[in-house]
Amino acid sequence: MTTVAAYAAPAAKAPLERTTIERRPVGPNDVAIEIKYAGICHSDIHQVNEGWGEAIFPMVPGHEIAGVITEVGSAVTAFQVGDRAGVGCFVDSCGKCEACRSGQNQFCSDGVSTYNAIGRDGKPAYGGYSTHIVVDADHTLRIPEGIALDVAAPLLCAGITLYSPLKRWQAGPGKKVAILGLGGLGHMGVKIAHALGAEVTVLSQSLRKKDDGLKLGADHYYATSDETTFERLAGSFDLIVSTVSAPLDLGAYLALLKTGGAFVNVGAPEEPNSLNMFGLIGGNKILAGSMIGGIAETQEMLDFCAEHSLGAEIELIRADQINEAYARVLDSDVRYRFVIDTATI
Ligand SMILES: [Zn+2]
Ligand SMILES: [Zn+2]
Repeated sequence: MTTVAAYAAPAAKAPLERTTIERRPVGPNDVAIEIKYAGICHSDIHQVNEGWGEAIFPMVPGHEIAGVITEVGSAVTAFQVGDRAGVGCFVDSCGKCEACRSGQNQFCSDGVSTYNAIGRDGKPAYGGYSTHIVVDADHTLRIPEGIALDVAAPLLCAGITLYSPLKRWQAGPGKKVAILGLGGLGHMGVKIAHALGAEVTVLSQSLRKKDDGLKLGADHYYATSDETTFERLAGSFDLIVSTVSAPLDLGAYLALLKTGGAFVNVGAPEEPNSLNMFGLIGGNKILAGSMIGGIAETQEMLDFCAEHSLGAEIELIRADQINEAYARVLDSDVRYRFVIDTATI
């Protein structure tokens, strides 16, 4: 066991504070990572606030982890000390269930999330707001040279969350893709869809971030608060990826799809949504969901981002600014991802 520094929420809805946690000894299949940067994902805040149900406390959030390997287990061949490594939203999966066998081990029936979960050793799993972590090597990602570690950290959740549906629904040349919401997720969606060769439109509440959106790679930018947007763009898109975590008028967005087009939700609203099914059956529309990606696909995303020099747009913060950052995320006041410099823990 190694005692390491971390930031934790001691109870639901409580501010995060500095503490120490125990990391397990490095087993034969493990690697130890010195965490350099950890992104702040909106889902960290949902879980600290028990917005998705009862959670485990104390909680060390963080599933956008980038660092350097400091120790490898005796059976590990894929990594060496000094390698740049990442950890995303889960740290274990069984390798045997249907989800694992189909390369979607994020849906493993016996998986372990990076935090707010119980690990294989029966102890609580603690996330990335910490100086070190010990992780199974098969659930560790390689961060290629060519992406700085601070802008790479958010790729481990925000990057793969957008990459996976864009690939699955074939965003690329000749395809019109809309990204709904320009936040931590949405800005990565714009970058990746643009790099894949699609014609990209941002649909945002207002035109406040229009200049940013165009700089990030969008071809068009419309405000959803403007009624004429929905008339003008009716039947326009092959694919809409919604990053919004609030209730939406789904019917209004389905009307923006071409015949056979897909609306894919990656946001995770705390409240249920309703839909008039006529908006779906008219035009053979597809309403789909998507959640992160498997380990192999996450590695593919990191390699793609390195090849295209894509990282997140970040605001680097000290650990003692985490609570302030949470408040700003809730106010949509971040461009576009807060990343904690873990040297300040
Ligand atoms: Zn996340
Ligand atoms: Zn499994």
